[in-house]
Amino acid sequence: MRTAIVSAMHQELSAVLARMPDEHRVVVAGREFWSGHLHGHEVVAVLSRIGKVAAATTATALIERFEVDRVIFTGAAGGIGAGVRVGDVVVAAEFLQHDMDASPLFPRHEVPLYGRSVFPTDASLTARLATAARGVLADAAQTLGPDTLSEFALASPKVHEGLVVSGDRFVATSPESEALRASLPAALAVEMEGAAVAQVCHDYGVPFAALRTVSDRADDAAHVDFLRFIERVASRYSQGMLDRFFASL
Ligand code: SAH
Repeated sequence: MRTAIVSAMHQELSAVLARMPDEHRVVVAGREFWSGHLHGHEVVAVLSRIGKVAAATTATALIERFEVDRVIFTGAAGGIGAGVRVGDVVVAAEFLQHDMDASPLFPRHEVPLYGRSVFPTDASLTARLATAARGVLADAAQTLGPDTLSEFALASPKVHEGLVVSGDRFVATSPESEALRASLPAALAVEMEGAAVAQVCHDYGVPFAALRTVSDRADDAAHVDFLRFIERVASRYSQGMLDRFFASL
């Protein structure tokens, strides 16, 4: 059983590689794939690259060249659902491309010729990931330390499960995030890769699960401290969740 670990951020990938005792590098399609073991499980770790096409290429290479049996994705996202706050974690139950629109030929958001707009994640992997996420957040003070908790005002972070939407734009204005909320009221978070990976995994029948730490509210303050948040919070959460996830397998 070979598991792909796809990281959206290089800080997350570094944390994964630091835990792989035997990784070796294989370059495919200009991407560095790292094969080896994590907590005794066979894994291939890679950076997703940013945006839907780049992430789809990465996912396709993982399946075709590395023959992975399942794909786990970690990264950050903008929170758009009510009550989805910076420092919370969103575990994706399903994905949709918010910028897919072939109307009037097809309904808005429907991926042409698939007859669907929503691509679900694998229920059992997702449940495992959500359990790992709840464990890490229950221990947030321990994982992050009190200084980081107060710097980012992270009081009682929560795990949400539901719809995550993806598109080829960094959503960083209030009007844009309001428009997303209006057209997709069920959406919890917005990012730039997940729906592409979900579609590739659907095509190949490969189980997929994804979690995102909420780094911003997809509004005018979205870029502020993004990198510091990734370094101090999101990558540590991802690391803790992957540790717990692999320990549970
Ligand atoms: N300045 C960063 C920007 C990366 S783009 C850098 O140099 O790396 C943002 C990444 O985080 C994407 O991979 C996307 O999936 C996710 N993301 C976080 N917040 C987002 C938002 N508000 N809108 C869209 N994507 C977001």
